[in-house]
Amino acid sequence: MKVRIVTLGCKLNFAESSALMNTLLSRGYERAKDGEEADVVIVNTCTVTDTADHKDRQAIHRLRRENPNARLIVTGCYARLKPQEIAQMVEVDHVVQKPLERFVPARSKDDRTRCFLKVQDGCNYFCTYCTIPMARGRSRNAPISEVVQQARLALQEGAKEIVLTGVNIGDFGRSTNEQFIDLVKALDDITVYDTDNNIINYRIRISSCEPNLLLDDIIRFVASSEHFAPHFHIPLQSGSDEMLRIMHRHYDTALFAERIHTIRQLMPHAFIGVDCMVGVRGETEQRWNEYLRFVEGLEVSQLHVFTYSERANTRMLTMPLEVVSQQERDRRSHILHKVSENKLRQFYLKHQGEQRWVLWESRNNRGQMFGFSDNYIKVSRPFSQDKVNTFELVAL
Ligand code: SF4
Repeated sequence: MKVRIVTLGCKLNFAESSALMNTLLSRGYERAKDGEEADVVIVNTCTVTDTADHKDRQAIHRLRRENPNARLIVTGCYARLKPQEIAQMVEVDHVVQKPLERFVPARSKDDRTRCFLKVQDGCNYFCTYCTIPMARGRSRNAPISEVVQQARLALQEGAKEIVLTGVNIGDFGRSTNEQFIDLVKALDDITVYDTDNNIINYRIRISSCEPNLLLDDIIRFVASSEHFAPHFHIPLQSGSDEMLRIMHRHYDTALFAERIHTIRQLMPHAFIGVDCMVGVRGETEQRWNEYLRFVEGLEVSQLHVFTYSERANTRMLTMPLEVVSQQERDRRSHILHKVSENKLRQFYLKHQGEQRWVLWESRNNRGQMFGFSDNYIKVSRPFSQDKVNTFELVAL
């Protein structure tokens, strides 16, 4: 039986798809090659926005066209939130829901260089615009000892970079009575040897952490760690304090600015990516202007801009708030994209010529290979097989 898994959405979904594929391979399934018709097609969906739902449906239509005789199974967050809607699609044979009660470990194995390691799942925050807690359940995690064991296996299998992945990573430890900082320290402490008894070099990225949970001791530890990359991804979502209250976020702009300040003091070279949502209900002209001013003043490297879309069963829809027109949402998104381009350019220019460690990836793109520095600057060089999956000190 040949199987194809198609993944939409976040790194967590990619880690889970990879774990699922490995389970199927161990049970005698074969991976369908590119362009080959599969017997079983699994679509691991995302439902973070309306656009995500739309992309899920498009993928299902396309996969059915390409695999007319396959059993087509849909799972993931969209399948959890809207199983009836998917079951009604003529292309779909089965809808399978992931368990919400227990933690299911996962790590990706598709990429030779990088491993997405799931350390946490679910969220207890219930931001008023978000459906993820309904799709992913309550916050839970594996014990530190098991995560460390998974990380060790990934490194022994050849990964040189581990990306910690979860829904609300900073909340790690809620179900095991542990702390995220202790996980960070335990992962930093791993020593793995290759077959010639040399210590394997590796690095770790914290993919995304809520600002209120990115405590000073974590920032300080990353600044002094040899393994943790100077790379932060912090959700802001709005730069207006009134909006942050409406959205039921757990911080205000002052706390956010303080976190950025601490990182910059200790790691002027760190890459800081920031999630920004625009056009949320209640984002009046005045609040938007405050938001824009705040974001423009932040010394961060890039913005990840998301346009708000109304999600069924979220608390925000019951709140008496001004609705931002679609045209205005698009205009604000465009403005933040421009701010982001500018910040990224500034960040690249500021670090041009500096020497940083780059991990070269395996893809040969018309004779070029790519890699990322520890502070997430993408560089390229002519392809060389013996550089693949190795670290090199490079002038950026
Ligand atoms: S922190 Fe808020 S936005 Fe993020 S997953 Fe939890 S509820 Fe959703």
